Amino acid sequence: MSPAHPASDNAAHDQAVRELDVILANAGVGVVFVKQRTLVRCNQRYADIYGFASPQAAIGRSSVELYACEEDARELGRRAYPLLAAGETFRGEQRMRRQNGELFWTHLTGRLINPEDPSEGSIWIVDDIQERKEADATLADLHAEQQLIFDHAMVGIVFLRGRRVTRCNRAFEQLFGYGPGELDGQLSRAWYLNDEDWQAAGALCYEPLSRGESFQAEMLLGKKDGTPIYCEVRSKAIDRSDLSRGSIWITQDITARKQAELELVQAKAQLEALVEQRTQQLSQTVAALELKIAEQQAAEARAERLALFDGLTGLPNRHLLADRASQAIDIARRSDEPLAVLFLDLDHFKNVNDSLGHRVGDSLLTQLASRLRGAVREQDTVARTGGDEFVLVLPLTDIAGAAHLASKLMGLASAPFQVDGQELTVTPSMGIAMFPTDGDDFDTLCKCADAAMYRAKRDGRNAYRFFTSEMQAQSARALLLENALRRAQERCQLSLHYQPQFALDATGEPRIVGAEALLRWQHPELGWVSPAEFIPIAEASGLILPIGEWVLREALSQLRRWDDAGLPALTMAVNLSAVQFRHDDLPELVDRVLREVGMAADRLELELTEGAAMDNPSMAITVMNELHARGVRLSIDDFGTGYSSLAYLKKFRVSKLKIDQSFVRDLTDDVEDRAIVDAVIRMAAALGLQTLAEGVETEGQLAFLRSHGCQAVQGFLFSRALPADAFSEYVLSRMLVSA
Ligand code: C2E
Ligand code: MG
Ligand code: MG
Repeated sequence: MSPAHPASDNAAHDQAVRELDVILANAGVGVVFVKQRTLVRCNQRYADIYGFASPQAAIGRSSVELYACEEDARELGRRAYPLLAAGETFRGEQRMRRQNGELFWTHLTGRLINPEDPSEGSIWIVDDIQERKEADATLADLHAEQQLIFDHAMVGIVFLRGRRVTRCNRAFEQLFGYGPGELDGQLSRAWYLNDEDWQAAGALCYEPLSRGESFQAEMLLGKKDGTPIYCEVRSKAIDRSDLSRGSIWITQDITARKQAELELVQAKAQLEALVEQRTQQLSQTVAALELKIAEQQAAEARAERLALFDGLTGLPNRHLLADRASQAIDIARRSDEPLAVLFLDLDHFKNVNDSLGHRVGDSLLTQLASRLRGAVREQDTVARTGGDEFVLVLPLTDIAGAAHLASKLMGLASAPFQVDGQELTVTPSMGIAMFPTDGDDFDTLCKCADAAMYRAKRDGRNAYRFFTSEMQAQSARALLLENALRRAQERCQLSLHYQPQFALDATGEPRIVGAEALLRWQHPELGWVSPAEFIPIAEASGLILPIGEWVLREALSQLRRWDDAGLPALTMAVNLSAVQFRHDDLPELVDRVLREVGMAADRLELELTEGAAMDNPSMAITVMNELHARGVRLSIDDFGTGYSSLAYLKKFRVSKLKIDQSFVRDLTDDVEDRAIVDAVIRMAAALGLQTLAEGVETEGQLAFLRSHGCQAVQGFLFSRALPADAFSEYVLSRMLVSA
């Protein structure tokens, strides 16, 4: 605008003004000229912003009215003036008011037209930034909210870029034990336990992240101090199309959960183990139960077998034998065939057991059993009926056949047995009964075979005998005697005779010191029956118990009467049967009778045969001890006829040995008997026992006995057994003689 051309100057000026108007009218911002706080001119946009109907409507209005309040207007003046006055541009945001009263934010740019003279006015460019302001506020709120979440989240949050931490929250740092900011810029390797884990995690998440999916995993990570920590991580790329913009990771400590899970798994495993164990226990119990049942069944089977078979040899026992025998006899009867029953018993087998032991005895019996079994035919029965007793039932066997087998068995049983490297020899005794000649049933045949065997033994053993009519007669008498004996006691057919016993002194006459009570039976038809005959029958039938008790009571009562009659104090010797001796009640019975009669125990001497004492030595010792404790004396009767073991003899509580009359009988002319009697006397002396010789009939015998130190005698030389009255007379007469 040069002053040299005023006309063209004016035209140019007008042109400029028009151009300016166009610009102002179309500007996107509001433009206003203000002079003396009054709007002088404005463009359309300005009018629009403030809500004037047109630019003209704005002209002349006070600019102050356009502020929210007067104070705002003054405040802006204070802020802007120094700049404007310096000729500079003011820029700033300012809250304004629209015509409808609405407040809104503007961005103002202002300048003085002439900084030298402010009264010329100023020009302002106004930008409506209300929307931007609002958006900013929302964004700020959002940001603040996010920050809040970020800062206070219970989970660890980390932003990674290029696997480095761009940002992480406190929770994340705390999770891994880092201080605030300590992880910033660090590689994510920091919270991995090792390189491999770190690489593997990177490879694993790449795929899903690049697809825009979230990656989720449970990982074992490490704290700053190396402590492993179980974490659940979730991650997502910030921009899936540009992974370089990084990713966000949300990390949560699940160690406790894992621990709980682990414990749950362990508890489950434990429970399962327990269940397994219980199941096992249960099955063991069941197995044990099954085993028990099986055992029980086996035991029952065994018991059943035992009921029919002998436990030692496996041979049929008495029951099975009876069964088989009666069947065989039935068949024999129907088919009119002969049959033999054979009894076999080993001679002195007890000695084998006693001297070599039961084991040796058992082995011998087992071997014998198989020899017998091997010697007979299939249809024959070999049974073991007791200790060393065997019974054979032989169908279709006549006398010749039975004799043939018997001599064969003789050889078999006598052949040496090998037991524990020892060679043993035994001999059998056998008795044979024939069907139907000797009996029609098994019971009868057994009795006959038994009697025949008994005969074989009496005839010197190691032999077999057939049952004969003579034996028949004998067994018939035994039956007769047994029946008669049953009534003998009540019919007062029994009595006692007394044989005096004498003490031998070195010089002078033998003195009567006692009596032996000997049982007598007088039957109206049978006459006097010898005790040697009826005592065994009484023993076999059990009658000996009541009879024996009667003898004891009667003998002691008699002794009482003699005492009362003024006879010297004698000892009463009473014979005791093995059956009595074995009876539990014996010591009490003796006690009772002694008390009943009022007799001192030491006046009684019980005679026990050697056989009875040796039959069961340990039992004998017990009973002897009991009797000894009661003050009763014991003597061994018939000494020398049995098989006394010196070892037991020492333990027996006996005071006297009665030398059997069989040794005394031939004393004067049998060297051997003399030697035996001499030996018995010496042995007894050595054991502290007295000796009494029985059956002394001659002066010669008496002289020998006296000279060899025998202390007492009894026998026909002095007196037979006498009835009570005769005995007392005898005693008194002898007293007179010696007086
Ligand atoms: P023992 O106990 O050895 O009795 C001795 C036997 O020899 C008696 O026979 C007696 O009469 C007899 N005797 C006595 N002196 C002589 C003699 O000088 N020469 C001969 N040849 N014999 C003599 P007895 O009375 O016939 O008795 C036989 C057996 O019967 C007794 O032998 C005894 O074992 C038993 N006995 C007798 N009475 C009873 C009793 O009350 N109870 C028991 N259990 N057995 C008795
Ligand atoms: Mg006697
Ligand atoms: Mg005798």
